Amino acid sequence: MNNTTLRLSSSIGSAFVAKVEKVSGQKLLACYQCGKCSAGCPMAAHMDILPNQIVRMAQLGMQKQLLASKTIWTCVSCLTCNSRCPKDIRIAEIIESLRQTALHNGQRDDRLNIMELSPAARGDLPPIAMISAMRKLTS
Ligand code: SF4
Ligand code: SF4
Repeated sequence: MNNTTLRLSSSIGSAFVAKVEKVSGQKLLACYQCGKCSAGCPMAAHMDILPNQIVRMAQLGMQKQLLASKTIWTCVSCLTCNSRCPKDIRIAEIIESLRQTALHNGQRDDRLNIMELSPAARGDLPPIAMISAMRKLTS
């Protein structure tokens, strides 16, 4: 990678960091990687990148990897991470901002439309799945 490419990548990364901070309303650099958010996350076993790693990668402006991650769609917006963070960082909002960015980029066209399910199928879904899907639909 030459110097011009490095400068370009760095400026794209900085713009991404600024965007995540603006959309989520969170200061990414406040995180000191204690890991409490990931330790309490009920969906951690189903994620490819843990919540604390999401914050670290967001600090580093790793847009491509973050927007391609399974985690941003696996998070069920339960807010447990927010309640555990000693720095009062709202990790769920950071993840929501990544979902919004992915949706605005047109990255996903396979979203679950709850209203297209039959009433019986909707009745079988756990409430948190409904809440999570509706949040993602309204992003
Ligand atoms: S709990 Fe807060 S400070 Fe700790 S790793 Fe998660 S976001 Fe960072
Ligand atoms: S809001 Fe998402 S990342 Fe945070 S604890 Fe719940 S599932 Fe995990």
